[in-house]
Amino acid sequence: MTILTLNAGSASLKFSLYQDDGEQQILHGQIEHLGPSESQPPRLYACGVDGQVLAETTLGRGGQSEALDHLADWLESRTDTVNAVAHRIVHGGPRHGGATLLDEETLQYLDGLVQLAPLHQPHGLAGARALEQRLPHASHVACFDTAFHRTQNELQQRYALPEDLYQMGIRRYGFHGLSYQYISEKLPQVLGKAGHGRVVIAHLGNGASACAVVNGRSVASTMGFTALEGLMMGSRCGRLDPGVLLYLQDALDFSSRDLSDLLYRRSGLLGVSGLSHDMRQLQASSQPAARRAVDLFCLMAAREIAGLIVSSGGLDALVFTAGIGENSPQIRTGIIERLEWLGFQLDPEANAKALSATACISDPDSKPSVWVIPTDEEAMLARQAARWLEERRDR
Ligand code: ADP
Repeated sequence: MTILTLNAGSASLKFSLYQDDGEQQILHGQIEHLGPSESQPPRLYACGVDGQVLAETTLGRGGQSEALDHLADWLESRTDTVNAVAHRIVHGGPRHGGATLLDEETLQYLDGLVQLAPLHQPHGLAGARALEQRLPHASHVACFDTAFHRTQNELQQRYALPEDLYQMGIRRYGFHGLSYQYISEKLPQVLGKAGHGRVVIAHLGNGASACAVVNGRSVASTMGFTALEGLMMGSRCGRLDPGVLLYLQDALDFSSRDLSDLLYRRSGLLGVSGLSHDMRQLQASSQPAARRAVDLFCLMAAREIAGLIVSSGGLDALVFTAGIGENSPQIRTGIIERLEWLGFQLDPEANAKALSATACISDPDSKPSVWVIPTDEEAMLARQAARWLEERRDR
């Protein structure tokens, strides 16, 4: 069985090919420079699991649909059949608690959720529609970032707003679910008994959030109705008093477009530093504004993590993952220092050494323990599609 995973973003398409029930990756790659304001032409790049370069081609400037045409042609030259395509779709709404077949009715339902994830949902759906035309015999399966959180109890999914708004779907959905599910499935293997206990996973990348899991199931998350709430991010603000938005509208004449631009693109590390959305660049900078942005990132992350522990009823382990979580010992220290009152004791040497690799980074006496576990959202996509195909076969 061969499964293609597709993660379609605003400026790039990431793909991987898996065999053996979605467990064995055989190649991965991306088409980059797809954004409308790119100075460079789109480029297809792919390599095998051994790092061997399989493709490096400059493409014409035709946008996402032409790029997917190229990808389908290239894949046809490399593999006989693609049995399934696992599409990463950010929002599944209240309806989807797991992967599902992308038929026309489902696509239309997902179109209705575009406003809830305007940066990601349109690209995922456009990619799915374009590839369905090119690979009509494959099963096209949608895998959602929100689905993992549908195990949260009803109270966790509510805002303190009138009931009719909850019934209209204005509720907390949570995101980064593919990453959280991947880590959750690893927890028993890496942590042993504690892996079945109360764990907070901090996914710290350009987008950042945290999730409390108990026995592998999501019980609470810091992102809510949209991917704006919670932690400070690369260019998103995280938790914000909604009164600020009223003030900006009433006193400073911000339109909804101005607000969206501010909250999604001009805030977070970029907004506070005035320099960059990229953590590596800020850590390398000697400017006080860069330092301030990094410190606020750690403070907000610690505050949100502490808040989640109410929902997990205590904490056995904290796991760091994604670009910043896997690679920055300084940020991990900056967060843990603010949570030491919970009983954390970092092992500085283990923390400094843990770079993109699974490791325990706390002292044996630390309660809770602290871990780094690299995430793999592509592997989760392939696994979900493989499980979906298997369930359908068994029916
Ligand atoms: P995305 O949400 O786009 O998938 P990633 O998980 O790739 O993001 O994380 C990107 C972030 O990780 C960037 O802010 C980048 O600077 C940061 N990062 C990557 N490597 C390091 C490092 N060695 N030290 C600090 N930050 C890092």
